[in-house]
Amino acid sequence: MSAETMRRVLIVGGVAGGASCAARLRRLDERADIHIFERGPHVSFANCGLPYYIGDVIPREEDLLVAGPQIFEKRFRIHVHANTEAVAIDRAAGELRVRDLTTGGERSERFDHLVLSPGASPIRPPLPGIDRPGIFTLRNIPDSVTIREWIAGRRAKSAVIVGGGFIGLEMAENLARRGLEVTVVEMLNQVMPPFDPEMAEYVAAELRAQGVRLALGDGVAAFEEGPGGNILVKTASGAEYAGDMVVLSIGVRPDTALAKAAGLELGPRGGIKTDDQMRTSDPRIFAIGDAVEVRDWVTGAPVLIPLAGPANRQGRIAADALCGRDSKFRGTQGTAICGIFELQAAATGASEKALRRAEFTDFETLALHPNNHAGYYPGAEKIHMKIIFRTSDGLLLGAQAVGRAGVDRRIDVIAALIQKHGTVFDLEESELCYAPQFGTAKDAINFAGMAAANVLRGDVALAHWHEPAQEGTLFLDVRSPEEFAGGHVAGALNIPLETLRDRLTEIPAGADIRAYCAVGIRGYLATRVLFQNGIPARNLSGGFHSAPAKMRA
Ligand code: FAD
Repeated sequence: MSAETMRRVLIVGGVAGGASCAARLRRLDERADIHIFERGPHVSFANCGLPYYIGDVIPREEDLLVAGPQIFEKRFRIHVHANTEAVAIDRAAGELRVRDLTTGGERSERFDHLVLSPGASPIRPPLPGIDRPGIFTLRNIPDSVTIREWIAGRRAKSAVIVGGGFIGLEMAENLARRGLEVTVVEMLNQVMPPFDPEMAEYVAAELRAQGVRLALGDGVAAFEEGPGGNILVKTASGAEYAGDMVVLSIGVRPDTALAKAAGLELGPRGGIKTDDQMRTSDPRIFAIGDAVEVRDWVTGAPVLIPLAGPANRQGRIAADALCGRDSKFRGTQGTAICGIFELQAAATGASEKALRRAEFTDFETLALHPNNHAGYYPGAEKIHMKIIFRTSDGLLLGAQAVGRAGVDRRIDVIAALIQKHGTVFDLEESELCYAPQFGTAKDAINFAGMAAANVLRGDVALAHWHEPAQEGTLFLDVRSPEEFAGGHVAGALNIPLETLRDRLTEIPAGADIRAYCAVGIRGYLATRVLFQNGIPARNLSGGFHSAPAKMRA
């Protein structure tokens, strides 16, 4: 087949989505003429490793290169054009206009099919002083090299991170690890925006314990020159934080300029609109990765979820579709994990706050704190978990977990079940690997399922810590007197579980009883005793471990 008759597929963007699309396409079509155009100097690099390169955990820049142009050329016969920016799409002519950034020269490249994987750009709001030297964003290897050089050149001792999301917190950890004093300024009242606030609180506590200063609920208003030539970050509340450098990590915006200029349809959230095979409004053009809008797997709403996993899967699906296969992208459920010093924080599916925002009402939440492995085996750690499920049928809607070990496994199991429309009854019945150093015979996953199924079967009624107390509310603490003395809910009545059956007369008739223990198990047992003695009571989800600080006496 001559070059003229080979189909020509051009790919814009050569990292997560673009590189995986190109490689898959080659595996499926040995004859296609495949070209990757990448604005930056590298293709297929590990964006997710950048904070760890800055933190010296990944020692060498070349360790970030997953596959270089030679591998693409030699192993896959894919032509890589680095330092080459796509500047316009002529859909009528079937041509991509590209600019060689080393020479400035432009040329047109013919295509039969075009795949757009340009990613998303870090947001730089037009705030006063935003262009001052020393204010960085992080997207690629050159950004990380610039940050490293600044730290070394200025002997930076302090940094202000603007934005407490995943990248911001990874940068906080890595800069702190290099000995910098770090402050995180975040507009919301919590770090980790995809998490519910009470779960994010565990992460905030770890950051504070590691010496990271948190300024929550305060937005950045301006950047000025500070004492000694450093940067002064001024916030809306009037507070000021000085740092030798600033990292802006307040989110990303899909790179849609090319698509928009070419008249491709965008979705309501501003990403490129595609069908479930990643085809844009022009059937010859596909789009994948952070630049596209996806369907939220749980709510069905159009969303922007910039994650590496979906970008890679979409690349593969676009290549399949280009070869006539019927692979379809199912949507994104936002499964993500972040390491914060010694802590792991992971989530999948919808959060409680997202469901409330979407005005979903048919759901229940459950907090629990199981061990990652058998308590009798040395080194057991608590996993703080929250699961969210549909009340009407137990369908799993979301889960979050924070802990020092075993978090990834639990969230991955739930993520896989959510994708298969699993229910809390499936969690209850899941058969998971077990030996004492890895789990418990009744795994954290089973516990979550059993506790949720108990609720749906009417064996226990749940109360939540955020429910305001009312006239007649009785907080019944069923822990031991020693535990009670170590901290309890203000005004609670302490009747240890072991004496409850003999002291039922002490419980005022008609009270709104909210029983609690340390993590919820004895509270559940207590409500069973009370129920069967004709006394309605609810178990406080998560027990005293989940009680907000303001309720503790
Ligand atoms: P990218 O991988 O960003 O690739 C887009 C490429 O297109 C860029 O290299 C860009 O230079 C190029 N490009 C753009 N426009 C043009 C043009 N006009 N012409 C030519 N080239 C162009 N996700 C996770 O799931 N887990 C993580 O731990 C994680 N950590 C991250 C840490 C950091 C610091 C960053 C920045 C991202 C992280 N992500 C993580 C997100 C993940 O990297 C992205 O979701 C994923 O890379 C998106 O793939 P993509 O192909 O859409 O875009």
